[in-house]
Amino acid sequence: MSERPRYDTIIVGGSFAGLSAAIYLGRARRSVLVLDTGAPRNRFAPASHGFFAQDGADPRTMIATMRDQVAAYPTIDFRDQAAAQATRQDAGFSVTLANGDVVAGATLLLAYGIADILPDLPGVAERWGKSVIHCPYCHGYEFSGQQLGVLNLSPASLHQATLIPEWGPTTFFLDGGEIDSEAAANLAKRGVSIEPAPVKALIGEGSSLSAVRLGDGREHPLDALFIGPRYRFNSDLAEQLGCAIDEGQFGSTVTVDDMKATSVAGVYAAGDITRLGHTVTFACADGVMAALAIHRSLAFGMDI
Ligand SMILES: Cc1cc2nc3c(=O)[nH]c(=O)nc-3n(C[C@H](O)[C@H](O)[C@H](O)COP(=O)(O)OP(=O)(O)OC[C@H]3O[C@@H](n4cnc5c(N)ncnc54)[C@H](O)[C@@H]3O)c2cc1C
Repeated sequence: MSERPRYDTIIVGGSFAGLSAAIYLGRARRSVLVLDTGAPRNRFAPASHGFFAQDGADPRTMIATMRDQVAAYPTIDFRDQAAAQATRQDAGFSVTLANGDVVAGATLLLAYGIADILPDLPGVAERWGKSVIHCPYCHGYEFSGQQLGVLNLSPASLHQATLIPEWGPTTFFLDGGEIDSEAAANLAKRGVSIEPAPVKALIGEGSSLSAVRLGDGREHPLDALFIGPRYRFNSDLAEQLGCAIDEGQFGSTVTVDDMKATSVAGVYAAGDITRLGHTVTFACADGVMAALAIHRSLAFGMDI
């Protein structure tokens, strides 16, 4: 077991939320340890869209550049290790890493993100983030005017199917499910075609999509398929620490206040694990807000 330095803050997750918090705390001259396993949620997409001054940038390049900039602050350490366990100890927290080392911090920031639970449909996994997508604001523009589809995964898919025609001609694949006549009429008003047959596979060259294969053997031409998958936390640290959790339609969120404090004093959370709208912009803003709250609690000895 290694020696246990005590940091002002340990940040679990060194991506958009975690690094945004780290740079603010580094600039506030606080000691920070960033733990990271190098698997940001958007790593499947070749380009990130919509973030200020970085439209179309490679997400991994964005994170690597930020990490270099954060590393320039002398009070910030990095370890490319998973945080496996966390407990309250000595008026702070003790975190055990995957390799067994133990580190200590006065405060914790949970920014470990979520993982999408993709449908078990042949052809989805290799196209995720490329031609199978969930967020039209992130990747819809690149398919403007092309043949678009929405896969019926949950009741929320109906909402997705009414929105997607903003980007191009849309088919709602019921995948053997049903919708009522009012929903069908609303889709018709939006110009959405309905395909009732079960979907068996996605086909196309490499990561691009050319068609959806249906249960009756037909192939429906398609350029992009939108899905709304469920998701899960990348870690159970929030549960280990006893943080309150909200159950949502697609997955859980760690309950936080406006300053990103969880229900457990000294534990903060930021990014996708704390919210419903999931974008790089929101994650970065969350990280900054959490850093301000953490800094004030360290400076004034209280949660605000
Ligand atoms: C396919 C796809 C494409 C997307 N495209 C866009 C886009 O174009 N524009 C946009 O604004 N948003 C996009 N998003 C959303 C965006 O990816 C997320 O909102 C953003 O990544 C959230 O940042 P985060 O810091 O909360 O989590 P993440 O970026 O997921 O980072 C979490 C970090 O924590 C690390 N980690 C996990 N567990 C541990 C642990 N136990 N110990 C240590 N480290 C851990 C992970 O390795 C990772 O580095 C996309 C999402 C997907 C799925």
